[in-house]
Amino acid sequence: MTTATAASPYQSYVYAYPHKTAYGPLPDRPALRDLWADEPKDALSLYLHIPFCEVRCGFCNLFTRIGAPDGLTGAYLDALERQAGTVREALGDSGPVRFATAAFGGGTPTFLTAAELSRLCDIAEHRMGADLKAVPLSVEASPATATADRLTVLAERGTTRLSLGVQSFVDSEARAAVRPQRRADVEAALSRVREAGIPVLNIDLIYGIDGQTEETWLRSLDVALAWRPEELYLYPLYVRPLTGLGRRAGTDGDPAWDEQRLRLYRTGRDHLRAHGYTQQSMRMFRRADAPPQGADDYACQTDGMIGLGCGARSYTRDLHYSFDYAVDMHEIRRIIDDYVSRPAGDFAQAEIGRRIDTDEARRRHLLQSLLQADGLRHDAYRARFGNAPDAHFGAELDRFADRGWLADDGTLLRLTPEGLAHSDAIGPELFSPAVRAAMAAYERK
Ligand code: SF4
Repeated sequence: MTTATAASPYQSYVYAYPHKTAYGPLPDRPALRDLWADEPKDALSLYLHIPFCEVRCGFCNLFTRIGAPDGLTGAYLDALERQAGTVREALGDSGPVRFATAAFGGGTPTFLTAAELSRLCDIAEHRMGADLKAVPLSVEASPATATADRLTVLAERGTTRLSLGVQSFVDSEARAAVRPQRRADVEAALSRVREAGIPVLNIDLIYGIDGQTEETWLRSLDVALAWRPEELYLYPLYVRPLTGLGRRAGTDGDPAWDEQRLRLYRTGRDHLRAHGYTQQSMRMFRRADAPPQGADDYACQTDGMIGLGCGARSYTRDLHYSFDYAVDMHEIRRIIDDYVSRPAGDFAQAEIGRRIDTDEARRRHLLQSLLQADGLRHDAYRARFGNAPDAHFGAELDRFADRGWLADDGTLLRLTPEGLAHSDAIGPELFSPAVRAAMAAYERK
């Protein structure tokens, strides 16, 4: 969460609901075997989290540490393998267990060496039983670690989507966002990704960087477009507590900065649309002729997810759970050290999480649908929850409609273009009072 003012369009990026800061200790430490016993398991998502990066980007509040002392990545993979064995056993063999999507995220999964990436794939395949060559497999990478040997392993093992965190092709902007890298090196990495033949390339860019103008933003977009990426994510810059940028004098809550971000958002959106891209959500754009196989925009509202690694979440229908969470570097190191020291049996229970009751399930469904450009289907919502969305969220939906953010034709509830631009204000307004209170009470660390 940011500390932006109430009127700001930039409250928070709702990529998962409830946010991990709303999780708390689960005093009963439920056994995974019981949690998963009655869950559908024939179309699960698998997520493997690698919490290492070469640098800590100034805007980043993800669960990751800088570098790894000798042997730590190997010890981490050992722990991941122990966890995978325990979790797979807990899923049982009474019915089909199948993974429909897989993703390696972080951190920077390509911080691992080529041999370690190969081992990571082995864990997903042999320990968990995911058929990586048959399902969409998405992997995040940084330009410096997207080396030919790593990309070869990833392509051979079935990666269908490679997401490269570029942020800006203007070197001074990359420095201002504390992501120092040179355009020439980034373009060399893009060339290697294309040579590896991975079907979907995603490029992440950021707008709202100090000193960024419409002219420099368009320049970055045009350099990206020259690579004909199948997907582009345009992220507004956030200054979050405890991040590199967050420790500096903040511009948070500054109306001029909000205005700059909104302007650059519209410029970027219009530019990509004029170049044959379709908007999927506030951040995501897909080339109209690209194969639709991104895994991380997969928005199944009745999801089951298995997350492995110490920053990963897992979802059953009734419980979301994870390990401890932190942004501060010392705390992250402590949590990773704790994770790698755990014996296999320690992975058999859920320790930290949040129960998902019917109200939260409705909110999650609404958020996951409404924040996509395709919107929410009335019939799907009614089939799942027995009533129309406005029977449960009338006040909120009226408010969005009054602001010109929402259109409802009786079949589909969709954000208008202005609504999509304000996705980061709409999302938090749909949080339940209980989740809001838990997030406010979360002791930031
Ligand atoms: S933005 Fe990505 S590369 Fe940068 S520190 Fe965060 S996880 Fe690592």
